[in-house]
Amino acid sequence: MAERYWQEEIETASREQIRQWQSERLVKTVKHVYDNVELYRKRMDEAGVKPEDIKSVDDLSKLPFTYKQDLRDAYPYGLFAVPQKDVVRLHASSGTTGKQIVVGYTKNDLDVWDDIAARQLYAVGADENDYIHVSYGYGLFTGGFGLHGGAGKIGATAIPVSSGNTERQVTILEDFGSTVLCCTPSYAMYIGETVRKRGIDPKKLPLKAGIFGAEPWTEGMRRQIEELLDIKAYDVYGLTEIMGPCVSYECSEQTGMHVNEDHFIIETINPETGEVLPYGEVGELVFTCITKECCPFIRYRTRDIGIITADKCSCGRTFVKMSKPMGRSDDMMIIRGVNVFPSQIETVLIKMGYSANYKIYVDRVNNTDTLEVHVEMNEDMFSDTVADIKANEAKLEAELRSLLGIGADVKLVAPGSIERSMGKAVRVVDKRKLIGG
Ligand code: ADP
Ligand code: ZN
Repeated sequence: MAERYWQEEIETASREQIRQWQSERLVKTVKHVYDNVELYRKRMDEAGVKPEDIKSVDDLSKLPFTYKQDLRDAYPYGLFAVPQKDVVRLHASSGTTGKQIVVGYTKNDLDVWDDIAARQLYAVGADENDYIHVSYGYGLFTGGFGLHGGAGKIGATAIPVSSGNTERQVTILEDFGSTVLCCTPSYAMYIGETVRKRGIDPKKLPLKAGIFGAEPWTEGMRRQIEELLDIKAYDVYGLTEIMGPCVSYECSEQTGMHVNEDHFIIETINPETGEVLPYGEVGELVFTCITKECCPFIRYRTRDIGIITADKCSCGRTFVKMSKPMGRSDDMMIIRGVNVFPSQIETVLIKMGYSANYKIYVDRVNNTDTLEVHVEMNEDMFSDTVADIKANEAKLEAELRSLLGIGADVKLVAPGSIERSMGKAVRVVDKRKLIGG
């Protein structure tokens, strides 16, 4: 099938052209925030940078960073760069990591958002003939409205189911003929399991693709979802602070997400020193909005850890790609001095033939960190003897030890016993935090 683009001239523009857009738009945005947002004026003055000093993207690193704390301090509207009469929508982060933050959008901001969501939908092969089933939550969370807006833009039929009521999700998949499912990957798993439990053959459903994001997920989990639902599963990345879903979007190659560079400049930095890293190195992702009117944050520190690549992509898009973020720096667990991401554990579990239904418990006993992983047995293991189960636990423990470099206690639990998620899954319970350790 020939590749289709929502905005071909932009998505396949030359690198020089993209650079030129970025430079022009950065210059304009910096002036806009300097003139209209007190915090930016103050920070830039302190750093001795004037808007005139920013002439092209080469000058980006002269600008100070913006942190999540700045948004919290400015709660709710302190960083808005336009008057209230121009703000047509508010959203707020889902508050996964603390006090929620609020962002606003002008008409034009929403139009840009719809366009980038439309790019994602075209990239997964959708157009006006499709039914876009949106099971991200609708509300202050950006998930639902993001993909919904994209569906409207391309003239597809949006089905705004929102999250929850999983049985009904499945009925709608069957009866309404959904062709593209949009939700978190953990919810996609749950929906897929429910489809199977109802005895529905996914091959008979018209569903062909899924757009899954808003939380970390591994390649192993991607394969499980693709198999469960008999679809192609695509990754999508975004965050409230920058726009919502579709800041970057995956294409047919499925090897990372193209960043919408005509609207956002991406950098990776060393999170300790703030130094900008070359493409290909792991670092914290930093975004600068260059077309937004209401909340054009400059050098926003996402705390997400990832890699940027500029390799030629077989889909023809010329935007750089970012890897699946391995998680937020906040998600990283330090266990007995070793850094561990839940996604590393997930990779091991799936490689060993388990599902992505697991939960991690971290605690401190006698001044030593403990790591316990609960994972569901497969149906066929359920009838195994206690000795067999113990042996399987030991096998997983050995594999985790060799991959993570630290020991973990594995407990195999009954199929279906780990709580399913309809939004962002909570994978880790860190009891050390509860006792302030
Ligand atoms: P909250 O910070 O309250 O969860 P958001 O909904 O804005 O609010 O979440 C954005 C965050 O979700 C990102 O910073 C990132 O950590 C995570 N995220 C979004 N998309 C992905 C993805 N495709 N892969 C991994 N993590 C993602
Ligand atoms: Zn591509």
